[in-house]
Amino acid sequence: KKCQDILKKTRVLNMYVNETDPEQLSKNLQASSQAYAQEAAKCLEGIPVSFKDAFCTSDMPTTCGSKMLLNYTPPYDATMVTRTQENGAIVIGKTNMDEFAMGSGSLDGCHGPVMNPWNFAVLPAADRHVQGANNVSEDTLSVEPGDWFISGGSSGGSAAAVASGSCLASFGSDTGGSTRLPASFCGVVGLKPTYGLLSRHGLIPLVNSMDAPGIITKTVEDCSIVLNAVAGHDVMDSTTVVESYKPFEIQEDIDLSKLHIGIPKEYHGPGLSGEVLRLWQDTADNLEKAGARVTQVSMPHTQLCITCYHVLCCCEVASNMARYDGIEFGLREGSEESTEELYAASRHQGFNDVVRSRILAGNFFLLKRNYEKFFLKAQRVRRLISNDFKNVFRSGVDVLLTPISLTDAPRYRWFANQDNHTRCEEQDVLSTPANMAGVPAISIPLSLSSQGLPLSLQLIGPHFSESSLLTVAGWLE
Ligand code: GLN
Repeated sequence: KKCQDILKKTRVLNMYVNETDPEQLSKNLQASSQAYAQEAAKCLEGIPVSFKDAFCTSDMPTTCGSKMLLNYTPPYDATMVTRTQENGAIVIGKTNMDEFAMGSGSLDGCHGPVMNPWNFAVLPAADRHVQGANNVSEDTLSVEPGDWFISGGSSGGSAAAVASGSCLASFGSDTGGSTRLPASFCGVVGLKPTYGLLSRHGLIPLVNSMDAPGIITKTVEDCSIVLNAVAGHDVMDSTTVVESYKPFEIQEDIDLSKLHIGIPKEYHGPGLSGEVLRLWQDTADNLEKAGARVTQVSMPHTQLCITCYHVLCCCEVASNMARYDGIEFGLREGSEESTEELYAASRHQGFNDVVRSRILAGNFFLLKRNYEKFFLKAQRVRRLISNDFKNVFRSGVDVLLTPISLTDAPRYRWFANQDNHTRCEEQDVLSTPANMAGVPAISIPLSLSSQGLPLSLQLIGPHFSESSLLTVAGWLE
């Protein structure tokens, strides 16, 4: 009930694009109350959760933030949705995002931008208006947008939904940082698990070889509870691991003297704010003082990451987006006189310019004459980036401590004035390496900036080291 109240009061943030039918909601609540009364409550019984609108839901539309899928209700539920529900959770709605998860600010979706809930704490009311938001009242819509702080993206709706208190957990997706970055800007915990630990079945793909469902919660403990509820093999996703790594547990009395923390010097790059740097240094110092071994390490291919990510991302996007032709899937526009004209009109109307430009770039990289020079080369560079992680973990490092964002949450006007590519180039430098290597990474809020906004750091570990990541994150929290 409390979550519902918050949800109603915070519509101005534009976090949700669809809410569960109230009748369904009360039925689910009743079932959960009964489960508690009969002492048959499951691990997420009655817990309000939300899903990024990239996860298929059979009882609500799934738009993926795109006009292309505006009227699409999938015939099935994503495995993450089924598993949370089987464990008693109550899905309260679908959250706002960048179109097809391409973006770092949650400003590039067809439902309008998401506002960071921290604006309520740090900005005067006059500056807290979102123009173009689809869920807010008419009078709010007519107000000029103030220079408010963004939520980060592409899972900005999910991060804001948890930060505002409208739900206790939200599922985002993380292909290049889209769970960890908004979690960092909104001051909540964001976990990108090891590739293959959580099923991607029913998660609309961006880059199949990097996509991972991400978990956003307020605390590290909540994150481990949700992870344990949904992790594991799924026959519907052949890339999920068969071995069970459960339970993922937070060790309470951790002996830090057995822990080797690596500080990768390449993560200290241009644009890193003094405040984030200071937090990084102070946190490393605290770990050292508490007995951990903290050393500087080198991951020499880190600076190639953004370019490599973009080549691979565009190639997979070009392939993934081919299905939206207005005939089998998606919006149908234009006359039906020629198939070609129908495709062109539908794809022009249905996709925003970010998606269209990635499709064009991807098709260019995949041309017979370019394939080797771009796609294959990027695959090789990806291997080098993965090897950086392998080498550093093989040398004895247990966990890497890095920043996750260069600054605290940026302001809307500054962010909106940059093109999507520049935004991603700046925002994703610290997050994409973990996706390239498929290793787990978690973003944890640790402090406040001088503007009063959250500042976070990232922990990265070897494949399937979620328990140690959560343990160290829990210690820092
Ligand atoms: N900002 C990156 C992109 O636009 C990451 C997206 C993501 O993780 N979904 O590709």
